[in-house]
Amino acid sequence: MTPELIIQLIAALLGTGGFVALFLIIEKKAAAQVANTEKVNEQWQLIVAQKERDFSALSQKYEAATDKIDKLYDVNTELRKQLDVANTNFAVSKLMRCHVIKCINREPPFGNTEEVKQILDGGQNI
Ligand SMILES: [Zn+2]
Repeated sequence: MTPELIIQLIAALLGTGGFVALFLIIEKKAAAQVANTEKVNEQWQLIVAQKERDFSALSQKYEAATDKIDKLYDVNTELRKQLDVANTNFAVSKLMRCHVIKCINREPPFGNTEEVKQILDGGQNI
């Protein structure tokens, strides 16, 4: 059976009025399908818009985190510099340290050199 034959058969069975009704039903179905497709498209557009907003928010968070990390690197560098200075000062102090009992060249002079030695050694000796 070819489509033409089917249409002719339906037309014969239903008459022209029935045929028009059938045609209208098919057209209604097609319109409903188009409306349905449009609805699905709208929903997809909403999803895409939401995903774009999510991506934008995540990008901003990423940039903020990167800025924070950069700043922490700066802080780290600064602290390393301070530690270098402190270590150098400590080494110089160690070299300049005088162990002579009751040294008269000490500036300013301490009354009790043993006490000073104890403090310098961290209270471990004696
Ligand atoms: Zn001395």
